Amino acid sequence: KNLGGLLGVSATDIIKNLMKKGKIANINQEIDYDTAAQIAEDFDILVEMEEEKDLMEEAFGEIVDNEKDLVERPPVVVVMGHVDHGKTSLLDAIRSTHVTAKEAGGITQHIGAYSVSISGKKITFLDTPGHEAFTAMRMRGAQVTDIAILVVAADDGVMPQTIEAINHAKAANVQIIVAMNKIDKVGANPDRVKQELSEHGLIVEEWGGDTICVPVSAIKKEGLDTLLEMVLLVSEMGDLKANPNRKARGTIIEAQLDKGRGPVATVLVQSGTLQVGDPIVAGASYGRIRAMVDDKGRIVKKAGPSTPVEILGLSEVPTAGDMFYVANNDKQARQVAERIKAQGRVQMMGQTPQKVSLDDLFTQIQEGKMKELNIVIKADVQGSVEAVRQSLERLSNEEVRIRTIHGGVGTITESDVMLASASGAIIIGFNVRPEASVKSIAEKEQVDMRLYRVIYSAIEDIQAAMKGMLDPEY
Ligand code: GDP
Repeated sequence: KNLGGLLGVSATDIIKNLMKKGKIANINQEIDYDTAAQIAEDFDILVEMEEEKDLMEEAFGEIVDNEKDLVERPPVVVVMGHVDHGKTSLLDAIRSTHVTAKEAGGITQHIGAYSVSISGKKITFLDTPGHEAFTAMRMRGAQVTDIAILVVAADDGVMPQTIEAINHAKAANVQIIVAMNKIDKVGANPDRVKQELSEHGLIVEEWGGDTICVPVSAIKKEGLDTLLEMVLLVSEMGDLKANPNRKARGTIIEAQLDKGRGPVATVLVQSGTLQVGDPIVAGASYGRIRAMVDDKGRIVKKAGPSTPVEILGLSEVPTAGDMFYVANNDKQARQVAERIKAQGRVQMMGQTPQKVSLDDLFTQIQEGKMKELNIVIKADVQGSVEAVRQSLERLSNEEVRIRTIHGGVGTITESDVMLASASGAIIIGFNVRPEASVKSIAEKEQVDMRLYRVIYSAIEDIQAAMKGMLDPEY
């Protein structure tokens, strides 16, 4: 019916047209873009796909705030590190020791994020530890985190996932603070950990670097105050601000369908103040906020910048990483959501990183769109990772710098693809064979993944791509 209205033909004619194509449809049937375009063509009308980001931009525009309207906001922190180094224990210890007396009455609710108070200031923690969750959000365009706490067990040191976490945080331009955990353990060896960290570009302050490293014990609840003070210090240097006096916008942190309450989403307000009764849109989901619950289980009416709250009232379950906006009215919220749904794709927040491919590298360089080619290198042995890294980075010239954002031993993983996707990078695999599932994610995310057996071939390809002379088939 809607398509008919747009094309100026009756719904019956469209249904007939569909039947000719062997498709049975009723008047309220939703059809996808390609089908709609085909039908339109049959009626001699050419259809163009609207740019995805225009929808949100058109409706809500970019934020322009006057300096005088900005006030300090709490930092948003994520905890990362190798498995079993104590991320969950640390998050739990901080939560249980730093909820203020006034707040303690409530029952702790796990809503995906929580805030704590220290020295009269707040810090917001994302409750899902690990760089995968962090990068998955970033892949959708969400930039929510200000600071990453890198948990390294003092008795185990820097491990593969520690390195991944470092590189994921660096690629996102997020400040890293090291929490050297398990210092209570007999085998703890802080100096060795500092040495290993320095091998990955994190030089601790006492060694003349600028990485803050705080010894802690999540189990004994030691060092937590110092760690939080350091988070505040780094946050103050970052001058984090937002305007609380505007319509709210932010990111969906978590969402699920609750049997009794319907779609429930935890949102992190990033700008403005969210209020009960606000009409909001998040991807293809929309609605008027019926109720808000904070991380202590209390019903709240308002939520300002960096505050996580659970909201009720959405029409359907949005996706984590989607941006949400408060609309001017219910109608606008519904219209935007419907248009996003009609596109058959979920709206991504802001601008997702541009996809990069060796095939059009030259064009992008020529157009001045690319000053840096980010690469992720995976190889069977450490020696090859280094060799590939050095030979490729050496190809950098005045027009484009080649930068390795992550290099590691082992096969190409989903996490590598996510990092590449979120950072606009390509993946070079050397003597490794990724699983089919990883290949399909790479395809879906349009991440250019190239596999080589000889270093020279990789160099040759990149060199050719930089000159626009790459052979299309490889
Ligand atoms: P995650 O996988 O990084 O989330 O690690 P967990 O928080 O699940 O912790 C892994 C294991 O290390 C658990 O058995 C914890 O009890 C233990 N652990 C965590 N922090 C400490 C600590 O500060 N000291 C000691 N001795 N053990 C700890």
